Amino acid sequence: NLSDKLDKAFHILKGHGKITEVNVADTLKEVRRALLDADVNFKIAKDFTTRVKEKAIGQDVLTTLQPGQLLVKLVKDELTELMGGDVAGINLQGTPSVILMSGLQGSGKTTFSGKLANYLQTKKNKKPLLVACDIYRPAAINQLHVVGDSIGVEVYSEPENKNPVEIAQNAIKHAKANGFNIVIVDTAGRLAVDKEMMDEIARVHKAIQPQETLFVVDSMTGQDAVNTAKAFNDILNFDGVILTKLDGDTRGGAALSIKSVVNKPIKFVGTGEKMEAIDVFYPDRMAERILGMGDVISLVERAQEQFDEEEARKLQKKIAKNEFGFDDFLTQIQQVKKMGNMKDLVGMIPGASKAMKDVEIEDDAFKHIEAIIHSMTPIERKKPALIDVKRKARIAKGSGTKIEQVNQLMKQFDQMSKMMKMMQGPGGKNLMKMMGG
Ligand code: GDP
Ligand code: MG
Repeated sequence: NLSDKLDKAFHILKGHGKITEVNVADTLKEVRRALLDADVNFKIAKDFTTRVKEKAIGQDVLTTLQPGQLLVKLVKDELTELMGGDVAGINLQGTPSVILMSGLQGSGKTTFSGKLANYLQTKKNKKPLLVACDIYRPAAINQLHVVGDSIGVEVYSEPENKNPVEIAQNAIKHAKANGFNIVIVDTAGRLAVDKEMMDEIARVHKAIQPQETLFVVDSMTGQDAVNTAKAFNDILNFDGVILTKLDGDTRGGAALSIKSVVNKPIKFVGTGEKMEAIDVFYPDRMAERILGMGDVISLVERAQEQFDEEEARKLQKKIAKNEFGFDDFLTQIQQVKKMGNMKDLVGMIPGASKAMKDVEIEDDAFKHIEAIIHSMTPIERKKPALIDVKRKARIAKGSGTKIEQVNQLMKQFDQMSKMMKMMQGPGGKNLMKMMGG
């Protein structure tokens, strides 16, 4: 991936005691190749390296103490700039504020509509209404209802109505009458750009005059993503881009090109199938991620958000008093699970994504552990020392696991208790240390 390629590029620098003009040129050539491999448009990649080179010369990179680091910084800054520089918010000023989703079928519109509704409801204290305007497949309306149910957000639909303009207008009336301050309109997409789809979304757009028109694009579609973005932008003049499926190792060359081609900011990214897998797009963090430094800041923030302070304090007391038991262990696992899927998390730790590249991480890696703990009696959970061979056998049987798995968990628990005692507490910061961040 791009990150590996850039690593290699910078390795050229690190491998030499003294950096020379030739090194810089070689490195930038590698950087350019890496960008091209990540589906960045040729001209953009070329301009990019030219600018970095000019800046490197301007700042006299060769005479500084750590030329390699300065060059990395120049590349990072330039990447950040390429992706839009600053964080772009979304307009929530309307009463209600109407947000229209556009994009091809399968790009992630419906999923993202749910994620955004959930985000606005839980983080911004809004009351969103989801609107099903994908009228071609009955399954599409159902899908949005399932999404809405899972996050406790109302879904407006008219299964019998085949006119998306009317549905959207009625939904806005419904929102006004019922105190919704956000209306998220999910629309139908096609597998490729076609006239019928474009006409329809243009009609909906014109009729409801949304505060925000968002273009949703699958970040794995590479150069095609840029062409699709251009087609939609020509029709809708949209306000921002949503990059989905930026999970794990997808580095998203599309992120680099789209901004340059349509000159619209990327506003959010989708990083998984769960409703929580949404992040504000930070150009500088994305640049760091692309450079393989890991999106540490996002990880720290997510960890802090999810770790309930109160819970953490209670736990700290228990650890101090040697009362940390399996119930607490279970709580910890649930906390970690809330942070997103393990693969996402690992991908954000610098170096880890490379080290773990070939390791299969199951999303339900904790399933056995939870089953085992659930098969313990309350007293066993509180006092793990009680668990002898006989009890282990019973627990293994009850949880459908092998006695070795129970043993392994006991050992892990033991190590974790010890580790926790060594650290001051179990808060987010310490978890970070445990994860090697
Ligand atoms: P739509 O046709 O544009 O409404 O797309 P959907 O929301 O139905 O998504 C299509 C598929 O992509 C579904 O299987 C989603 O679960 C999946 N999907 C959407 N967003 C993401 C994401 O950020 N990461 C991953 N891994 N899958 C996603
Ligand atoms: Mg859909």
